Amino acid sequence: MHKDNQPLIFENTKEGRIGYSLPELDVPEIDLSELLAEGFVREKVAELPEVSELDIMRHYTALSNRNHGIDSGFYPLGSCTMKYNPKINESVARFPGFANIHPLQDESTVQGALEIMYDLQEHLNEITGMDEVTLQPAAGAHGEWTALMMIRAFHEANGDLERTKVLVPDSAHGTNPASATVAGFDTITVKSNENGLVDIEDLRAKVGPDTAALMLTNPNTLGLFEEDILEMAKIVHGVGGKLYYDGANLNAVMSKVRPGDMGFDAVHLNLHKTFTGPHGGGGPGSGPVGVKKELIPYLPKPVLIKKDNTLTFEYDRPQSIGRVKPFYGNFGIYLRAYTYIRSMGPDGLKAVTEYAVLNANYMMRRLEPYFDLPYSQHCKHEFVLSGRRQKKLGVRTLDMAKRLLDFGYHPPTIYFPLNVEEGMMIEPTETESKETLDDFIEAMIQITKEVEENPEVVQNAPHTTVISRLDETKAARQPVLRYIKK
Ligand SMILES: *Cc1c(COP(=O)(O)O)cnc(C)c1O
Repeated sequence: MHKDNQPLIFENTKEGRIGYSLPELDVPEIDLSELLAEGFVREKVAELPEVSELDIMRHYTALSNRNHGIDSGFYPLGSCTMKYNPKINESVARFPGFANIHPLQDESTVQGALEIMYDLQEHLNEITGMDEVTLQPAAGAHGEWTALMMIRAFHEANGDLERTKVLVPDSAHGTNPASATVAGFDTITVKSNENGLVDIEDLRAKVGPDTAALMLTNPNTLGLFEEDILEMAKIVHGVGGKLYYDGANLNAVMSKVRPGDMGFDAVHLNLHKTFTGPHGGGGPGSGPVGVKKELIPYLPKPVLIKKDNTLTFEYDRPQSIGRVKPFYGNFGIYLRAYTYIRSMGPDGLKAVTEYAVLNANYMMRRLEPYFDLPYSQHCKHEFVLSGRRQKKLGVRTLDMAKRLLDFGYHPPTIYFPLNVEEGMMIEPTETESKETLDDFIEAMIQITKEVEENPEVVQNAPHTTVISRLDETKAARQPVLRYIKK
């Protein structure tokens, strides 16, 4: 239900009012109907709102104020790090020397930009403990797929054509089985044990000569660090499979442990999570992939190399899986990630991990008395609560998530991972102060009190937002365009 009376832009229209002014035409006017094929020319003038420039500015500013973003409030969205993205990143990305270059420019004229890409690759190599990095993939899932295609090419080059299966724990991120399927593999699910970690015996039972790889999300989607990684590496390598590390959430382990040192052959990172690229709304993102020596020949081409102190793209890579992105990936995100890495420095990156983990554990322990905590060991950057106790009182996790909107918070990810009943996945991130964490904790506690004393207020939430409770499926599938024609 729509509750405020801000008019729609279509309701504010005044015939003949325009928001721009163009100089008089000083070239002959073109009759479009002579240029375009029949049927492509509009018969009537489009019914667009007619408003002044100031009106349109106010309209969009008012709309943006209704939105919830990390710059306007706390956003503890589990699984998709929503941390503060320093504004210095934006200044650097807007330097004219970067913003105005074109991907078709001659390499000799963009050596500075290539140097940034090269240096970023080197930093990511160091951070992940890998031998070489490609920046091409445009997102985390794209990076997963790229790495799996390389693993596939590796097995094929060895004549190992029977390796058709990718093992994915049930606590993996949802993109893992999807990427494996798109890369042409069969996905085999490995069970979790009672501690929320990979069940080693189940893994042992499922590996074999048909194993292409194990994809491990670490920490897993419960926010838990997989303790038996070295054993898993032994088991998978023992049958000739490769190990893949989903490093989307590297702020849980960065500068503490490296996937390369844990025995992984490939890893992807999300520059738009850990490395402060802004994200949401579908991109642009960046999901670089790091690989160990054996996989280097299969990297997407062209590969950026340094030759006689000059940077150049190498195309002659006969075993490459080919290009996975037009041009060279999302350069604007590289600039932001590079600025972040350089401005934080090695000690800063280590502190990021320490605070991400500290904040999550602080919040988890303070909320533990009020909610069910399905797995009670220390977490990494995020944790999962269960609303089982509240459900018995007739209030669901969805209701509590909606109620958080009334307190000005973006709700956490809910009903995920699937093995937690009434799950709530919370990632506070390292960029929040203790005061912000405490305020959120108080709001959560307040909601649990409401569940006991006045459940309707939670069941009917939100009460203070512009739009009240929606049928979410219907809202996503059948958006209503409210256009009132006069
Ligand atoms: C976000 C995320 C992904 C997917 O990244 P996209 O950029 O959204 O494709 C994969 N794995 C994990 C663990 C994630 O958190």
